[in-house]
Amino acid sequence: MKRENAGGFYCLGIESTADDFSVGVATFGGKILANVINAYMPEEGGIHPREAARHHAEVAGKVLEEAFTKTGIKPESLSIIAFSQGPGLGPCLRTGATVARALSSYLNVPLVGVNHCVAHIEIGKMKTRAGDPITLYVSGGNTIVSAFDSGRYRVFGETLDIALGNCLDVFAREAGLRQKVGMPFGAVVEKLAAKGKKLVPLPYTVKGMNTSFSGLLTATVNLLKKREHTLEDLSYSLQETAFSMVTEVTERALAHTEKKEVLLTGGVAANKRLQSMIRAIAEEHNVRFCVVPSEFAIDNGAMIAWTGVLAYKYAMVTPIDKSFVKLKWRLEEVEIPWIK
Ligand code: AMP
Ligand code: MG
Repeated sequence: MKRENAGGFYCLGIESTADDFSVGVATFGGKILANVINAYMPEEGGIHPREAARHHAEVAGKVLEEAFTKTGIKPESLSIIAFSQGPGLGPCLRTGATVARALSSYLNVPLVGVNHCVAHIEIGKMKTRAGDPITLYVSGGNTIVSAFDSGRYRVFGETLDIALGNCLDVFAREAGLRQKVGMPFGAVVEKLAAKGKKLVPLPYTVKGMNTSFSGLLTATVNLLKKREHTLEDLSYSLQETAFSMVTEVTERALAHTEKKEVLLTGGVAANKRLQSMIRAIAEEHNVRFCVVPSEFAIDNGAMIAWTGVLAYKYAMVTPIDKSFVKLKWRLEEVEIPWIK
């Protein structure tokens, strides 16, 4: 390929599934040259899809420019453009896809649509050198326990309602807490939880291999309003309960599959208490514990760029007329030819 011979193979990845707009650049060999993230943080309330999309459109140029400055490469040196094709919020996904299509057409390079959940797993594996793990992927929009089998990442368990990160975020907002750049709601709750002393009984809901957080959230918010417990104790109890639920399911998947690694990935993977719980089951089962570095835990363009490289190596390109966004694109629908 012409561009490969001209001094390097670079894939630019665009992430825009929800609140973050991010651009990353990866080399063919898996070196991450840039990972610029710009988060939309509403003054009040949760993520409004159209407002988030407006944010993405506003910052896209600036984020792209910063990524190019960081890498020192020119747009003309790019070999492929990868983008988050789903799952996610429609308006946000469409904004990222539009930027990706424009770049791909202008530079005349292939477009690769990437599944956001696959990307969280792949960046975790690449950064920790995990080969074939049970993965606990926990973020603002997803809660999935999965493992590779027969050509795809199979879902062993997932949330039946809201995601674990969303549960923490809504609780934090109800408590009147504030987030800022570098300190998302989950991290604010984590800090408070570290000062909690009393474990308040809360609904613990595991159904088969699936989890449910909405009842837990409602119960915790109701207790918050009654002011019978400190915010620290409630943060602590919410974390202990919710994290125990996902740990239980992950342990069961581990025992069943007898995989030799456990990987923790997604925004909530940055939480030290959750890390210690998953590390504990890994030790008990004598398997390796892997956790994605925090820069690559939250939604980021680097993971899209890297997964774009993996897909492109197997000729998985996305023609423009097939590049429509897929709001409910499930993890197990994606063929993974790069794992033998
Ligand atoms: P993502 O959806 O992958 O971008 O991840 C964002 C989610 O991760 C949000 O729900 C955050 O509140 C959550 N999060 C980020 N840092 C932490 C942390 N230290 N502890 C718990 N949750 C966190
Ligand atoms: Mg996010």
